[in-house]
Amino acid sequence: MRDFSTDHRWLSINTATVRRQRGEPWPLPKILDACAARGIRAVAPWRDQVAAAGLGATAAQVKALGLELSGYCRGGMFTYTDDASRQSVRDDNRRALDEACTLNAPCLVLVVGGLPGALAGTPAHRDIALARSQVGEGIAWLLEEARTRRMPLAIEPLHPMYAADRACINTLAQALDLCDALDPAGSGSLGVAVDAYHVWWDPQLEAQIARAGARRLLAFHVCDWLVPTTDLLEDRGMMGDGVIDLPRLRGWVEAAGYAGCSEVEIFSRANWWQRDGGEVLDTCIERHRRSV
Ligand code: ZN
Repeated sequence: MRDFSTDHRWLSINTATVRRQRGEPWPLPKILDACAARGIRAVAPWRDQVAAAGLGATAAQVKALGLELSGYCRGGMFTYTDDASRQSVRDDNRRALDEACTLNAPCLVLVVGGLPGALAGTPAHRDIALARSQVGEGIAWLLEEARTRRMPLAIEPLHPMYAADRACINTLAQALDLCDALDPAGSGSLGVAVDAYHVWWDPQLEAQIARAGARRLLAFHVCDWLVPTTDLLEDRGMMGDGVIDLPRLRGWVEAAGYAGCSEVEIFSRANWWQRDGGEVLDTCIERHRRSV
């Protein structure tokens, strides 16, 4: 297992971690500058942040600063209710792929969607099996588009508390079953993003990480599970502040052949988003050395 205790070469910052600092929301160009100034070499930006900063300008800044991406957030949300919504989902995912290519991302991360309409508060139906079949169909379609662009797709299973509104793929086994069905050869074009926050509780986790292997392990996201957790979405903890045994988990992904970044992804409305962004980044570096 790689020694992270003395350097942060393999630290990546998911830019949502410092997107909403109180009093002074940090735009993406400022986040990129602040990361580079600290010797942070990798980032994972979100599409809305890139859109606000401009795609071309972001690509140029990333290059000028010598940064690389650990992933691009995000595509997916594949479920639909009619032909028009299916088409708009496809158009949007095609754009996400093109953006990922422009930014030279190693993969497009997919949050696959739950019951259509649920995220906006009005689920169109209760048929999660239908939602899952639409997800399979959507990824199968996107995979063809992704292959022509040589942009790998990383399915991110989300904790089951998000099954209704964000992602009806909730375990690594489920995600890998889909990978095996759609890409049986393990071509490298389809894999998974393992986010500790979403999968740490899974009794099959170690075995499924081993099953994934290096060709399917495209991203590794870290933060911590706080006890108590007070918000389903925006109360993620800093590494070391919660109950996830992150070094053990990283040991599993590295034993399976993963040699990429540990990407810090913290949504924290009441704590980390209330602090100065520089303090948050410094803390990420320190905890990455000590608690990942
Ligand atoms: Zn994640």
